[in-house]
Amino acid sequence: MVYDVLVIGGGPAGLSAALNVRARGKTALVISNPLAENPLWKAERVDNCLGLPDLSGKELLTVLYDHAVSAGVEFLEARALSALSAGTDWYVAAGDMMTQGGAVVLAAGAVRGKKLPGEAELLGRGLSYCATCDGMLYRGRRVAVLGYSPSARREADFLEEIGCQVLYFDRPKSCAIQGTDKVEAVVCDGETEAVEGVFLLRSAMAPGDLFPGLEVEGGYVRVNREMATNLPGVFAAGDCTGGPLQISKAIGEGQIAGQKAAQLLARKAAE
Ligand SMILES: Cc1cc2nc3c(=O)[nH]c(=O)nc-3n(C[C@H](O)[C@H](O)[C@H](O)COP(=O)(O)OP(=O)(O)OC[C@H]3O[C@@H](n4cnc5c(N)ncnc54)[C@H](O)[C@@H]3O)c2cc1C
Repeated sequence: MVYDVLVIGGGPAGLSAALNVRARGKTALVISNPLAENPLWKAERVDNCLGLPDLSGKELLTVLYDHAVSAGVEFLEARALSALSAGTDWYVAAGDMMTQGGAVVLAAGAVRGKKLPGEAELLGRGLSYCATCDGMLYRGRRVAVLGYSPSARREADFLEEIGCQVLYFDRPKSCAIQGTDKVEAVVCDGETEAVEGVFLLRSAMAPGDLFPGLEVEGGYVRVNREMATNLPGVFAAGDCTGGPLQISKAIGEGQIAGQKAAQLLARKAAE
């Protein structure tokens, strides 16, 4: 799937960025978890969004989504798992798909919660963030699924279907992953279980895990006034760049990021 601009995150920032890419005649794909999984969906009432008074979070997100889609924005319901650049393009793995774009806008919202003990050390050594991507490596083996996202149970069912022995932990309060060179066990809420693989399924990933080398400060992506990050062709907008964590700020930053991404592509095309 090849687009001019890939947008990661379908909240106010991402939808605004994609709309503004379309307004400049470029194609835009928003890769996002389902709209209904956005934390804002549950807000009873949003009162400080200019021109959109008295809406619930669900109504507001639906209005923004419908506007973007009516302008020709495409929406891929999937979790973005990794991004890498080759030449002047970016490739983003989303669910079991590979997407390609000339520029990327990261609008994945604020990441809540810290890394688990053992997570950084054992990532790629038995620890995976994606059941559908890596599940086949663990057929016939005992694995733990740490389910922190609404779709985690479905991903655990998939692992069972392909023959993994799955221990499912539903939003464990405390959790650690143990192993020397590879995963050997998980300790969840005081219970230790020997496993060969761990699937840590969250709705969001830390920006630096998605984009290796991305400059992050205090958990937020560093951007300049054009919403450009330190990585060529990568822009960021919304809560992921820092406070105030508010809708109007996210929409405004999304607009700048979308415009600047489209301008970058126009410059590249003219070279
Ligand atoms: C209950 C509640 C009430 C609120 N009330 C208000 C209010 O009244 N006024 C106000 O201004 N603000 C309010 N906010 C804050 C507001 O929701 C945020 O500031 C705003 O939504 C930020 O927009 P965003 O697009 O940057 O991020 P988000 O809206 O968080 O959108 C990011 C999206 O990206 C998705 N995502 C993340 N990582 C990935 C990935 N790897 N792959 C695919 N998708 C991914 C997320 O699931 C999410 O859908 C409220 C927030 C909550 C939770």
